[in-house]
Amino acid sequence: MERNRIYNFNAGPAALPFPVLEEIQDSFFNFAGSGMSIIEMSHRSKWFQDVIDDVITRIRRILKLDEKFHVLFLQGGASMQFCMIPMNFLNRENLADYVNTGTWSTKAIKEARIQHKRIKVVASSEDKNFSYIPDKIQFNSDAVYCHITSNNTIKGTQWSSFPDTKDVPLIADMSSDIFWRFFDVEKFGLIYAGAQKNMGPAGVCMVIIRDDMLERIPDHLPTMLKYTTFAEKNSLYNTPPCFGIYVIQLVLKWLEETVGGIKKMEGINRKKAGLLYRTIDESGFYKGTAMPESRSMMNITFRLPNEDLEVAFVKNAVESGLGGLQGHRSVGGCRASIYNPTSLEAVSALVDFMGAFEQKHG
Ligand SMILES: *Cc1c(COP(=O)(O)O)cnc(C)c1O
Repeated sequence: MERNRIYNFNAGPAALPFPVLEEIQDSFFNFAGSGMSIIEMSHRSKWFQDVIDDVITRIRRILKLDEKFHVLFLQGGASMQFCMIPMNFLNRENLADYVNTGTWSTKAIKEARIQHKRIKVVASSEDKNFSYIPDKIQFNSDAVYCHITSNNTIKGTQWSSFPDTKDVPLIADMSSDIFWRFFDVEKFGLIYAGAQKNMGPAGVCMVIIRDDMLERIPDHLPTMLKYTTFAEKNSLYNTPPCFGIYVIQLVLKWLEETVGGIKKMEGINRKKAGLLYRTIDESGFYKGTAMPESRSMMNITFRLPNEDLEVAFVKNAVESGLGGLQGHRSVGGCRASIYNPTSLEAVSALVDFMGAFEQKHG
């Protein structure tokens, strides 16, 4: 491991690619010959303009976005999107569909209801403790949008393919799996992702929004709470989260130039998740908590035979240089978050540790 760092399986904020950290350090005191660091300069300087232009170009290239899509950077985290989406797209008459696959979808639903918007929960996996992604959903053809959470970070479930909502635009919270693989953006009206899971530090949320969605937004909303403000000013209406945007730029440069692109990334991600799920399935000791067909490629959730063993597992793991393996405080158990930056080497180390731990305690 580089410089006494641990193998980091945190769920978020989460591990970043080591070369990105090195580049941040190397260019910190004197960014691009400016004589300043990136966090000391105007967001209207040429240096920062180059950063934001480059990151948007990369996002467009990676996801093959055409002109009708706009890439925005907002603050307030993914959680702010839970309230902005119904505020921007729902009025007194219209209606939206929501699929409830756990904590984050539940929070998104709550924020729409607080505003007395009309929403319909068209499917939920609450009946089985959110351990699966619902199937064969009846969507409303008159809905303004249908909201889903592409990956449930906490329960370790993920949509393996996106539902067909016909002409109704999909809106997806992709905070914990954006850029894990290529997908077709055409059916999405809006995609959002907090950066701190798969692409950067906390403090910035990326939004990709389609023209026709922007056209629906009324003028009378607070300036900072409507997407049109950010689209019209290229995310520079006010001071954007400059440092976060810069780190996303470096992470995407790493994805394109060091990893070799998003197709390669998907292959590596499938390999990492495959290794862990195989280890779980082949043991009588570890037990996966998500239904096999709904398993996440990003957050691998599992239990041990009892809670004492889980505590010992997490503690021994830390002693062996493997961090962040405790499950979310709301569900317990264990969780290995293996976002893009987590290397195959880190996952192999975890698999070896799991084998040794089972041998000792199984
Ligand atoms: C972490 C997470 C959030 C919350 O993000 P914040 O940036 O803390 O608001 C929302 N949705 C998903 C899927 C997440 O994983």
